[in-house]
Amino acid sequence: MSNGNKMEHSVAIIGGGFSGLGAAYGLNQGGCSKITLFEASNRLGGRTWTVKTNGHTIELGAQYFHVHKSEIYEFAKKCGAVIQDDARKRYENFESIIVLPDGTRLDQELADSFWDDCYYDNAHKIIMDKDYDQSITTSKVAVLKLFEEWRQRNAEKLASYSSSHIETLESLLRRSVQLQESLGTEDWSNVVLSSYREWLVDSENLNEPTAHGGYGKIVEYVVSQLSANCVKLNHRVSEIDWSSDDGVYLSFEGQEKPQRFDRVVITCSVGVLKNTLNQMWKPPLPLEKRQLLREITVGQLDRVVAEFPQRFWAKECSNSFEYSVAEKENEPNFFSNIVSVESHPNALLLWVVGHQTLELYQMGQEALSDAIVKFLSLVFPDVDPNKLRPSKIHRSNWGQDRNFLCGYSHQQLVSGAKHVRETAERLAKPLLAKDKKTPLVLFAGEATANEHYATVHSAWNSGRREASRLLADFSSRRRDGQHFIRSAI
Ligand SMILES: Cc1cc2nc3c(=O)[nH]c(=O)nc-3n(C[C@H](O)[C@H](O)[C@H](O)COP(=O)(O)OP(=O)(O)OC[C@H]3O[C@@H](n4cnc5c(N)ncnc54)[C@H](O)[C@@H]3O)c2cc1C
Repeated sequence: MSNGNKMEHSVAIIGGGFSGLGAAYGLNQGGCSKITLFEASNRLGGRTWTVKTNGHTIELGAQYFHVHKSEIYEFAKKCGAVIQDDARKRYENFESIIVLPDGTRLDQELADSFWDDCYYDNAHKIIMDKDYDQSITTSKVAVLKLFEEWRQRNAEKLASYSSSHIETLESLLRRSVQLQESLGTEDWSNVVLSSYREWLVDSENLNEPTAHGGYGKIVEYVVSQLSANCVKLNHRVSEIDWSSDDGVYLSFEGQEKPQRFDRVVITCSVGVLKNTLNQMWKPPLPLEKRQLLREITVGQLDRVVAEFPQRFWAKECSNSFEYSVAEKENEPNFFSNIVSVESHPNALLLWVVGHQTLELYQMGQEALSDAIVKFLSLVFPDVDPNKLRPSKIHRSNWGQDRNFLCGYSHQQLVSGAKHVRETAERLAKPLLAKDKKTPLVLFAGEATANEHYATVHSAWNSGRREASRLLADFSSRRRDGQHFIRSAI
């Protein structure tokens, strides 16, 4: 930090998720001393949410690190928030069990080849093929073709299962695409396979779960690096007035007087930006930005973590596992799958995806507990149902919480990777002052990231990107002897 040369520009950051924290950290590192981060809720972390329970931690938002080489992963190592053994080794023992609608299990070898051949390995091969046609190959088309080929290859082994059960495996592929790459959207035919690459496929792909305090520990670490008192919790920005040349005026819910800042970085989710489009901005956002925000879709994805008095699955399987339950057409499962929770030996994670999240928001704890028992009974038919009743249930409600209004966001993925990147870059373009060069309101957040969109590290990088943009502007202004925007006009 250049302590001897502190810059006096005031910067407000709206939102204390990882992109807001990244912006604050970057500005702080660059010597900017007048930073205020306004967060609407009473906690930092945004769509990462680490909850302490019964001596363990669980995550209700992000849980995994998707790449090795990122600043966030380095921080995580520094504060002990990664499991120190080799993540890849752990995944060698990962059990991915497929349960058919009548409760029988697909032979494990078949289950393993199903996931690899129909999706993970083969989908990777297709998109990494240089001749891959991005514009026409939707996930639906590509994955269903792979499924058909897998069926033919394994016809002999599959003969012992009823054909109607085999048909239901298609639902697992749809759910998987919904969870993995289309991030909660309903229509998987709208998703190009290349989005998978954009999201996380590269040689650094990791998928390592957080541990020992998880993302919450990284938030604490980042905050410890910021200047004291720069974070203001329970401050909801209700209006951004960027009409004036002498700075940006922010109004806050429940406060009468707006506050003035030289620059503002906004990091709210696309769900929030879409929802506040008509009341947040004065003057309204330029047409291009409004159109972009209308085009970007949001997906819904929630976590239900159930704690149990006893670990009834101890004898059933290893420490790392996932149960996927195939569903009949028109009889969707409420939960998508059941996954072990590395950081809590007596807890299970149940994913709720897409329109089922709306049902989740209407459900009381009692009804949710019943739904968990019902789903678990299908997977563990031999276990006494009383043991399947959770002692405590934790749940997210990303799609309903007014601070988020979405689990994820992504672009209408109809025209391939190039489009995905371009849209993010256009969304990230700052609003300029009247001199047409001074960045007045800057945009960060996972949806503005042109790489690995919808991840914590991309959110962080987007905040760092906007901090660098501001620091470059401040320093060129200093070189030219201009301090205020007005003098540049
Ligand atoms: C269920 C789930 C699982 C996920 N799993 C992973 C994973 O394993 N790995 C991974 O890398 N990513 C994962 N993600 C994605 C990752 O969590 C997000 O991409 C990332 O956290 C987004 O950060 P952000 O800063 O862009 O937005 P947010 O985290 O949404 O931060 C925006 C902040 O702005 C605040 N805010 C909103 N409106 C206002 C206002 N008017 N005034 C002031 N503040 C406001 C909000 O309260 C929030 O804190 C997951 C997401 C979900 C929902």
